[in-house]
Amino acid sequence: MTKTFDIAVFEGDGIGPEITVPTVALLAKIADQTPDYALSFTSHPAGAAHYAKTGDSLPEASLQAAKTADAILLSAMGLPDVRYDDGTEISPQIDLRKAFKLFAGVRPVRVAEGGETPLKMPAGKTIDFVLIRESTEGLFHTQGRGEVTKDEARETLLITREVSELLFAFTFNLAKDRKAQGRGPGRVTCVDKANVFRAFAFFRELFDAEAAKHPDLTSDHAYVDATALWMVQKPWDFDVLVTENMFGDILSDLGAGLMGGLGLAPSADIGLHQAVFQPCHGSAPDIAGQGKANPFAMILSAAMMLDWLGLKHGIGAMCDDAARLRDAVDAQVLARQDVTADLGGSANTAQAAQAIGARLEC
Ligand code: ATP
Repeated sequence: MTKTFDIAVFEGDGIGPEITVPTVALLAKIADQTPDYALSFTSHPAGAAHYAKTGDSLPEASLQAAKTADAILLSAMGLPDVRYDDGTEISPQIDLRKAFKLFAGVRPVRVAEGGETPLKMPAGKTIDFVLIRESTEGLFHTQGRGEVTKDEARETLLITREVSELLFAFTFNLAKDRKAQGRGPGRVTCVDKANVFRAFAFFRELFDAEAAKHPDLTSDHAYVDATALWMVQKPWDFDVLVTENMFGDILSDLGAGLMGGLGLAPSADIGLHQAVFQPCHGSAPDIAGQGKANPFAMILSAAMMLDWLGLKHGIGAMCDDAARLRDAVDAQVLARQDVTADLGGSANTAQAAQAIGARLEC
């Protein structure tokens, strides 16, 4: 019997709904083409605009629906002028990360041969690596609870055995899946600062213990400062990188910069039971409502969702469709045809998404 996956959709704020509607339409058409799986979508309220209307940024019913869904497709959230009383931003995506313990922040960095990047890419090279950012502890452990006195400010970095073991097991499995899909040599790099901080020596020790369980993969270590340098000098050499929360926060933006902009950067936040798929960019209020938003980061996030579901449930057709979606976006970006203004084109959001559908003949 065909399995139907329940996808919880959060349309978000600003350009969020504009990029979500065509992405969901595309996914529905792709799923319609195959007997191997089916998708059912349910929209749930959350975000800054919802908070402004109701005083609730993530209703309990939305949280529960997300908890029981097979996957969560979340668009950009937050608006600069809508804040909580203490001045902090509305960010249900961070609330979900905490509520569901989504420890693995997966940030793929890809530039196809001939693709746009601020780097001078040697002929024949492509960039295709994944940065995994631990997303529940590290230097974000005391987020919002740091101690500040007149003369001192203090935050605490936390690395736990429990989360690190989960993180490294996830990372090596991802490297294995990539290798099986012909997308990398199966090399995992632990990015840390083990030469200076004991906490990172502990992180590295746990990494090495997991590495020892995977003789079919290779592993190595790199200091975070050197990694920043190499991400600019030779990013084509990386395969899978795993690092602490704050280091990952910084390096993932550097990764997005390599890809010719935020409009092409997808992401996933994955835990043991739930996973959220979301573009890296924000709600872009400056262009909201004008049909200018690039839907590709959202479409690539949807491709990551298909891949994750396909691998989790052993449905090859979902992984194949994920690859078809990625390839269609790559081809569209390379051709510079039917792309939005941020990629130098004149298409609107709907036209750019429709062009992907046309490439997939759906
Ligand atoms: P946040 O802090 O919520 O992540 P941000 O301050 O990083 O947000 P974004 O909302 O991501 O800002 O927007 C940064 C710039 O990139 C804006 O000029 C915006 O218009 C542009 N931008 C972001 N996403 C897209 C997109 N999908 N298509 C086109 N332009 C975009």
